[in-house]
This record gives sequence, structure tokens and C-alpha cells, in this order.
Amino acid sequence: MSKVKKTTEKFWEHKTLAQMNPQEWEALCDGCGKCCLHKVIDDETEELYYTEVGCKLLDCRNGNCSNYPQRFEFVPDCTKITLDNIDSLTWLPKSCAYVRINEGRGLASWHPLIAGDKRKMHKKHISVQDKAIDERQAGELQDHIVMWPLLDR
Ligand code: SF4
Ligand code: SF4
Repeated sequence: MSKVKKTTEKFWEHKTLAQMNPQEWEALCDGCGKCCLHKVIDDETEELYYTEVGCKLLDCRNGNCSNYPQRFEFVPDCTKITLDNIDSLTWLPKSCAYVRINEGRGLASWHPLIAGDKRKMHKKHISVQDKAIDERQAGELQDHIVMWPLLDR
């Protein structure tokens, strides 16, 4: 999850994930922050649930990672989305830009690359803004299971 970067070429309209260069790949992230929420897995059913609790580096006010360049030093299990693992990351939200492009659905009109900034995404309640809570104040993760990260497409 990265910050919004400006770009002039609408590369997402004609390139597949495999055709994107590293800068385009990074720019594709909408910065919603939903993938940075903690998840829990039911011991019996092995079903995965999202919680409203953010990773310790997630800025819950805007969905940004507060230390993106060095995130693996502080959060070793942070997942880097790549071409090789995108198909196996079935827990990613349906609204995730990588999932949408991978499934041939294109970007949503609220995506910052189309809307110009993150305001429309926040206004439509796609991101974690005003919903995620700090893990230092959360207590038990299982007390914070929520469905909203998986609702928006
Ligand atoms: S370190 Fe945490 S906040 Fe940063 S990208 Fe990874 S999961 Fe998201
Ligand atoms: S869910 Fe996808 S688009 Fe949203 S922050 Fe995570 S990687 Fe970026």
C-alpha cells in the first residue's frame, strides 16, 4: 500500500499487470489501507475474517503506511503484492486495484488515479478512514471482526 502518485498516461486502461513497470505497479495502489487491517482465521473452519484493527504502521486517518520504504523491517509479515502471488491472495478486498485489474474489471471511478486524489474514495467509505482503529488500543482481535472491508467492489 503506497501513497498516491500523479501520472499522465492512463496505463491502467491498456496494460495488464504483467506489462506494468515498477512505478506503474506502485501507482496502481489506491491507498485504501484495507489490506493493512489485521485478519483472524477461525481454528475450526479456517475461514478468514477481517478486523477493523490496523497494522501498527497503518495511519488510520488516511490509509497510508507510515513507513512504506522500511515497512519490512518493522512488519516482517507485511505482504508485498506481486504478479506471482496475486492469484493466491484471495483475502484481498474485491475493491483492491490489483484484484480489479487482474480480473479485467478496470479501476473504479473513485480510484485516485481517475478521481485525482483520495477524497472521493474516502467520501464513498471505500478506505479505512474513520473506520480503522489503532492496534495499541484495540485489545483482542476477535472482538473487532467486521465485514465492511469486503463489501465495496
Ligand atoms: S507495514 Fe503495515 S501499514 Fe505498512 S504496508 Fe504493510 S501492512 Fe500496510
Ligand atoms: S487493498 Fe489493494 S489497492 Fe487498497 S491499499 Fe491494499 S494493495 Fe492498495
